[in-house]
Formats: sequence, C-alpha cells, structure tokens
Amino acid sequence: FVLHYQPQFHLDGRMVGAEALIRWQHPERGLVAPGEFIGVAEESGLIVPMGHWVLRTACEQLAAWQGDERYRHLQVSVNVSARQFRQRDFVARVVEVLRETGARPHLLKLELTESLVLDNVDDTIAKIGMLKTKGVRFSVDDFGTGYSSLAYLKRLPLDQLKIDQGFVRDVLTDPNDAAIARTVVALATSLGLRVIAEGVETEAQREFLARNHCHAWQGYLLSPPVPVAEFEALVQRTNTAH
Ligand code: C2E
Ligand code: MG
Ligand code: MG
Repeated sequence: FVLHYQPQFHLDGRMVGAEALIRWQHPERGLVAPGEFIGVAEESGLIVPMGHWVLRTACEQLAAWQGDERYRHLQVSVNVSARQFRQRDFVARVVEVLRETGARPHLLKLELTESLVLDNVDDTIAKIGMLKTKGVRFSVDDFGTGYSSLAYLKRLPLDQLKIDQGFVRDVLTDPNDAAIARTVVALATSLGLRVIAEGVETEAQREFLARNHCHAWQGYLLSPPVPVAEFEALVQRTNTAH
C-alpha cells in the first residue's frame, strides 16, 4: 500500500493541508484505486489493520514535516471506515499512534462519513469527545448524501463538513445541487464549523463556491492525489507564488 496526498486549499489560495488516500501497488495491475478494494477489505475485516496502517503512515508523515518549516503547518485528513471506528480500542490506538510518532494532534483530521456518524450516535459522540480532548479534529465526509439529523449535528463536537463531490459536480447546472451546496455552507457557518468542498474540477465551480463563502476546497482543478514527493514540490511552488 502507498498513500497519495491531495492538496486542500483555503479560498485565499493558501495550501492548508492534504487528504491522504490509499492506493494498492499491485505487481501486475499497477496502482489500484481504493474503490476496487475498500469494500472487500470492509467485509473481510482487513480494513481494521489497513486503516491503522494508513493512520500510522499519515502521522509519521506529519512528524517528518514538523522539522521542516516549509511543511510544518500542513494538516492531514485521514479517512476512517465504520468498522475501524467501532473497534472498542479505536480511541486508544489513535492516541498510541500520536504518541509513538510524535505527530501534533491538531494537525490530524479524521474524516468520518455521514452514515458512520449517525449509525450509533452515542458511541460516536463519546469517541469524538475523547479524541477532541487530545486535540484531534473531525470532518464529515460525503456530507449531504445521508440523512443527517440537525439535532445530532448540534451534539457532535465536529470541526468541518465536507460538501460531497456529487453536489459540486453539477453545482452550475442543477439548481438543486446549487441550493444544497449553499445550504451546507450556511449550516456549517451557523454551527461554527468550517466547510470544504471536494471534487472541484473547474474554475467556474471554484468561483461559485468562493462567491457562496465556502472556506476551502480540493479537486483536480489544482491537483489530483499525488505521491508525497510530488506533493512537497507542489507545496513549495504554491508557497513561492504567494
Ligand atoms: P473520499 O474520501 O470521498 O475521497 C475523494 C475521492 O475523490 C478520492 O478518490 C479522490 O481521488 C477523488 N477526487 C479528488 N478530486 C476529484 C475531482 O476533482 N473530481 C473527481 N471526480 N474525483 C476527485 P479515491 O482516492 O479513489 O478514493 C475513493 C474513496 O475511497 C474515498 O472517498 C474514501 O471513501 C475511500 N478511501 C480512500 N483512502 C482511504 C483510506 O485510507 N481509508 C478508508 N477507510 N477509506 C479510504
Ligand atoms: Mg475523504
Ligand atoms: Mg467524499
């Protein structure tokens, strides 16, 4: 396995961090995208050790960047699967990885999907709460695709909502998608949360999001997920341009 990093930009153009995305380096098939193996890994339970590897690797990367002022401000978002999150020792393992790697907790952001969050709200609130006291941040991936209850959203100590790429895709042509995107921004803002849009592919989409006060975005418009060396080169180019 290898992690690729997709840059996340603040609307003022600063690069604020990256989402870590797993790829499988297959001897014959080359680089395999997670869509082709995450489902099987979930079913077999392999997702638990795999997710732990992702977390450790991302934290080792954060720790390595800490000593370099070009990269030390960068946050890393890590996707967490339902099965991994529901492990009884999930919180203890995250704390252990942070301690062992020396990564700064406030630079680690865990992405949970909306359906995961709502599946067992009390367990979710307890676990997020414990990790929040350590400084870890939380984002809701694919926001808007499930059935978020506003009452629960208020109770969850989250930091960020992520507008699903399904809404971003047709934001300029489908008035419903545009309304949803605007609503997610308004909802996040009024709950005191940050909001990021994913899957931004065109300048017109980015402009729409900026006009509607979305705080940050990621997407092919600026960069696909790339290997770490390429990501670091991109950070340097972006920073010298600002
Ligand atoms: P996600 O977390 O919603 O990640 C966003 C996906 O959109 C990524 O696909 C990314 O490469 C892709 N993407 C980024 N920018 C654009 C864009 O401008 N246009 C389009 N069309 N797509 C864009 P990827 O890397 O294939 O990952 C797919 C999904 O696999 C992720 O969705 C996430 O749910 C899961 N995944 C990836 N890595 C991990 C991991 O380490 N652990 C777990 N549990 N799941 C992971
Ligand atoms: Mg994600
Ligand atoms: Mg997503």
